[in-house]
Amino acid sequence: MSETTTNVLSTWARNVAPSPTLAVDAKAKALKAAGKDVCSFGTGEPDFDTPEFVKEAAAKALAEGQTKYTPTPGIPALRKAIAESYNAQGFAISAEQVVVSPGGKMSCYLAILATVSPGDEVIIPAPYWVSYPEMVKLAGGVPKFVTSTDADGFKITPEKLRAALTPRSKLLILNSPSNPTGAIYSEVELRALTAAALDAGLLILSDEIYEHLVYDGRCSFHPALFSTEAAERVITASGFAKTYSMTGWRLGTTVASPKIAAAIADLQSQTTSNVTTFAQYGALAVYQQPEAARAALAEMLGHFDRRRQKLLAALNAIQGMSCHRSQGAFYLFPNIAAFGLSSAEFCGRLLEEELVAAVPGSAFGSEGYLRLSYATADETIEKGAARLAEFCRRLRG
Ligand SMILES: *Cc1c(COP(=O)(O)O)cnc(C)c1O
Repeated sequence: MSETTTNVLSTWARNVAPSPTLAVDAKAKALKAAGKDVCSFGTGEPDFDTPEFVKEAAAKALAEGQTKYTPTPGIPALRKAIAESYNAQGFAISAEQVVVSPGGKMSCYLAILATVSPGDEVIIPAPYWVSYPEMVKLAGGVPKFVTSTDADGFKITPEKLRAALTPRSKLLILNSPSNPTGAIYSEVELRALTAAALDAGLLILSDEIYEHLVYDGRCSFHPALFSTEAAERVITASGFAKTYSMTGWRLGTTVASPKIAAAIADLQSQTTSNVTTFAQYGALAVYQQPEAARAALAEMLGHFDRRRQKLLAALNAIQGMSCHRSQGAFYLFPNIAAFGLSSAEFCGRLLEEELVAAVPGSAFGSEGYLRLSYATADETIEKGAARLAEFCRRLRG
């Protein structure tokens, strides 16, 4: 009996787009494995090892037999520590409002599944993180994009948000600091946007995975703190991957109203269950050893900031290229429109001709840009930027 491809794969599987950022990374890694000297700006992942004290705490938990199921939303000590950390910043939440999920990506997906019904519209500011539209579609929702450019500092306004509203609008996704642009909303801007969304009856998913990666004296803000209504209707997602270089640990968090948090935990209980048990003890060490955590973060931030400034200066020195001064995350999103190639063509040729990996802006819903991650060695940044400059020189002819 042979099955046709149409009935083997579901509509979900047929319609989901594979992650373009992971695809660029795979191609760069394959070239590297073949012995090529590739400079990769592709990966959205810190190049540091996880801090020693975190690894030690997880290793100790493993040695002590912490290898069985835990409660689905996380070990009580970790949920309590996370709640206390948010409360120290002005939240007023209980540990029951915290759900620990296998990665910040899963935290976002579960938040979407918990709030979006088929046909509901989800407003996604573009440029956006590649996974948001796919997650919304997997929930049966309809992504609605609101676009910003480098001239807007890659930020949308309440007016633009209101123009995108329909009776089916359900959720707004915010991501400040942003992947892919590194843009950060100021408190005034974020308050206005939050108020506009709540006035329209929307829920907000605030993906704050880069909340601690900020430069130039900037800070990021929690929309959930802006009003009592916001505390009810904002889901705050974050995680350990980017802040503590723990991408492979798969540790994400959501904070939400008791009702939404319970729904997220229920969805998780029927899909992934708890995060790997000893990994949760590693995360707990971040709260139990705050001095060590602060030191580890400060050290990484110092390196990121130096690299950011180096890459920013190099990009803005290229004739025809301009780059917005991003103050968060670890990405730059230069404008390449002047070169007259689509971003996919630009990146394809850049990798082929100069062995430099970057992700096309089109992957993030914005043609005419590239995403470069500076979470990479200084040497790669210097060499890669020089090759990029040479490539652009050739394009200018
Ligand atoms: C990296 C990232 C996440 C989550 O990453 P995990 O590895 O799943 O914890 C979430 N949102 C954005 C925008 C990211 O860049």
